[in-house]
Amino acid sequence: MTLQKKLRLFKIFPVFLMVFVWASFIAKPLVWGAKPKVQNIKKEAFGQVDRLSDQLTRTASQIWEFNEIALEEYKSSQLLAQLLKDQGFKIEFGTGGLPVAFVATYGQGQPVIGILGEFDALPGLSQKAGIATKDAVTPGAPGHGCGHNLFGAASAGAAIAVKAMMQQYRLKGTIKFFGCPAEETVEGKIYMIRDGAFAGLDVCLDWHPSDKNEVSLKTSNALNNFEVIYHGKTSHAAGDPWNGRSALDAVELMNHGVNYLREHVRPTVRMHYVIPGGGMAPNIVPDYAKVWYYVRGKDRVEVEEVYARVLKIAEGAALMTETTHQVHVITGVYNYLKNKVVAAVLYQNLQLVGPPAFTPEEQALARQLQHNLGNKEEGLSTKIEPFAAPEEYIGGSTDAADISWLVPTASLNVACCPLEIPWHGWGVVSCSNSSVGFKGMINAAKILSGAAIDFLLDPKKIREAQKEFKEKTRDFVYKCAIPGDQKPRTGGKKFGVVE
Ligand SMILES: [Zn+2]
Repeated sequence: MTLQKKLRLFKIFPVFLMVFVWASFIAKPLVWGAKPKVQNIKKEAFGQVDRLSDQLTRTASQIWEFNEIALEEYKSSQLLAQLLKDQGFKIEFGTGGLPVAFVATYGQGQPVIGILGEFDALPGLSQKAGIATKDAVTPGAPGHGCGHNLFGAASAGAAIAVKAMMQQYRLKGTIKFFGCPAEETVEGKIYMIRDGAFAGLDVCLDWHPSDKNEVSLKTSNALNNFEVIYHGKTSHAAGDPWNGRSALDAVELMNHGVNYLREHVRPTVRMHYVIPGGGMAPNIVPDYAKVWYYVRGKDRVEVEEVYARVLKIAEGAALMTETTHQVHVITGVYNYLKNKVVAAVLYQNLQLVGPPAFTPEEQALARQLQHNLGNKEEGLSTKIEPFAAPEEYIGGSTDAADISWLVPTASLNVACCPLEIPWHGWGVVSCSNSSVGFKGMINAAKILSGAAIDFLLDPKKIREAQKEFKEKTRDFVYKCAIPGDQKPRTGGKKFGVVE
């Protein structure tokens, strides 16, 4: 090579270098899309939730006003579905044979992230919003005493924010919002599961309004919810009682037997009943009576063991009274199997978003509510509870638990109500349509969207969640508690509260 050539190469080298730098660091990201940081995408998703804030608040407020109880959530489900449809989600109604259940889907392929939404009210809890004294809007009417109006709206908001980020950043995967009716009677999701609605999910995100900001590993109780119906013979209770066979006697003897059984079950078992049908008048020997039971335990095995013993007692009562009886299983659920990996992702996002920032006026309302309800005047929680909560729990049951045995699932709590006030009570109804509840709802939407984005962008996290899930469910076969051919009730009949 001549000296001249060498010099020419030396001169054009900086040009090569510049072209290389331009192609690698400027042009390529412009053409192919820069890989933005997860934190930036989440920040944008949270901004999206803020922009949706008014719409989500209106939605939650309308669902609060609809006050539709389990299986009757026609307007509530329609409102949420419309909100999602307007944002480009594909809507499928009638999941599991329930006219008020739906699935809203955006995107395609894996990973598939599910977010649960609920929207049913509770019977008899009507209460005016945003006040600290007990005052019904319509005495005896239903009310949102579990905050499910906030639940559904926050989850829909999260799904919409995630969808916006998927669109903006061309993120691969699918986001599914599950419109789950009838949680308060723990049956909606059971039919949806039987329909295969949750099949193919990689992870599932759940939340619930609460008095605390928390991601706990606490489980819930497994449950069998059933009725025993007795048929006897009427007669004049004074004139010819020897001709009568009392169905009510059978119910009373059954309950008596169960109350003796209490001494001989484990401390984790809970059995409770009401008598929705006990005869028409004292002078008619009742030929029809109905008792409605919940048998709860720490898991399905414990529930099934005790349930079998209760059925023997039911049969014994029929024998004693010469009546006949039928057992009708309304629903049954598993205990909640919390996935630690999913829970940890929710917890990191709870820390990122933080607790709701309540104003002094909101704290004052909370303390007044606590005062009037006889609770400690501690106001609203402004802290995040520690992550490592115990895994044992004695208390309610939920149909979300069954999903947790099929898909890695965990649940978040966000403060939407004053600390320690009675749940399923008028105080919760009051807060659920006030700025207190709405603030919790917005934070929940952000946290859920943040967690969904983490899973969409990091397949390793999904693999970890599934590894834990597989280990915990080794040899497990899901058994639906309702008979295979049982059709869901479709509203009209009010069975009340289970949770
Ligand atoms: Zn609830």
